[in-house]
Amino acid sequence: TSFAELGIERWLANSLGAMAIRKPTPIQAACIGPILEGIFSLHFPPWEGTTDKSVGKDCIGGSQTGSGKTVAFAAPILQMWAEDPFGVFALILTPTRELALQIVEQFKALGAPQNLKVCLLIGGADMNEQALSLATRPHIVVATPGRLADHIRSSGEDTICGLRRTRVVVLDEADRMLSETFAEDLEECLSVVPKSGVYGRQTLLFTATVTPEVRALKEMERTNGRRGVF
Ligand code: AMP
Repeated sequence: TSFAELGIERWLANSLGAMAIRKPTPIQAACIGPILEGIFSLHFPPWEGTTDKSVGKDCIGGSQTGSGKTVAFAAPILQMWAEDPFGVFALILTPTRELALQIVEQFKALGAPQNLKVCLLIGGADMNEQALSLATRPHIVVATPGRLADHIRSSGEDTICGLRRTRVVVLDEADRMLSETFAEDLEECLSVVPKSGVYGRQTLLFTATVTPEVRALKEMERTNGRRGVF
């Protein structure tokens, strides 16, 4: 398969090519189509007024290091964002600063031709600067749960209101994100974005292992009316 065969448009394939990414990895080949389809159905609801629940697919992908998972979610997100570039289109939550930085770099490289605005919210950096950046409604927010939760607790509605229309939430390293360590902060983060479900957001989980928590979330999303792709 090629990126074009997976439904990736030329501008994005060109951005990928500039990063020496020409052939999809297995996780990209498996995830890009379903994610695109899922975001598309949320964005252009052909089902409005119907009870068709097969739309807005949530996805779970494996996430071994170096598998290319970042592009597996970044490419379909950017393609759908480019159709209607509003902020905050997607929120990416990841457990560590280092991972957050890597994700930001890949989004910036891919989105450069389209003037993508990315906001990074991690610990150890200035809260005020981050709050100002968030208030400008960046297109993509990449955050560690603790720092985003701090912003939600301490900032006004003006700062976080962009997140209330977020179309896609990615839980990177979902097995860690769904562990007790992050539970409280994650709940705070998810409280400001649209609810999961047919009329809500799309959730993408990337995980190295399917822990009981990941399985539970998968089941919950299912009963919320999503047909998952696992
Ligand atoms: P990740 O698994 O997302 O941390 O990506 C690991 C590295 O693989 C990153 O430096 C990517 O730029 C690179 N990469 C991602 N997808 C591909 C691909 N299809 N072909 C070659 N390299 C890739």
